[in-house]
Amino acid sequence: MKVAIMPGSFDPVTKGHIDILERSSKLFDKIIAVVMVNPTKTPTFTTEERVKFLKQVTNHIPNLEVDSYLGLVADYAREKNAHTLIKGLRAVTDFEYEFQQALTNKKLNPELETLFMVTNQEYMYLSSTIVRQIAGFGGDISLFVPEKIKEEILERIIPVE
Ligand code: ADP
Repeated sequence: MKVAIMPGSFDPVTKGHIDILERSSKLFDKIIAVVMVNPTKTPTFTTEERVKFLKQVTNHIPNLEVDSYLGLVADYAREKNAHTLIKGLRAVTDFEYEFQQALTNKKLNPELETLFMVTNQEYMYLSSTIVRQIAGFGGDISLFVPEKIKEEILERIIPVE
């Protein structure tokens, strides 16, 4: 079975992430979207919330699983017997960091390949940070996140004074 992993902070999940998950689910037997827990960073949403939002917006993709992991993605992939990491590529600005990550992951787990999927033009400007900023100023986030998680996101974001 060909399993691919899409790791990320998903803080929160956006339409850009969902687009990559939908497209990559057609190329693999199973996709695991995994919320990576990084103890040195303080996310806006808890791990449980990020997992819950991801599950809510991907339940139309039958071969997709949602998980969370504290540790290295290279180790997670080994545990899941997955040999592919899927990364979305938005702009040149994503490239250098992702390139470094891909080479490091290859060193840590030589059986792991990183595949970059080019963003949908419609979402190339979109990031979780943008969603948090717009929500903080009370802006309309409906273009960026699915309707079913919109209210919960807005309720949890502390308005910028
Ligand atoms: P962000 O950079 O928005 O905080 P994450 O760490 O959650 O995102 O990203 C997880 C993965 O999703 C990364 O591979 C990232 O490049 C990809 N991704 C995020 N937003 C988009 C988008 N709008 N289009 C394509 N890929 C995206």
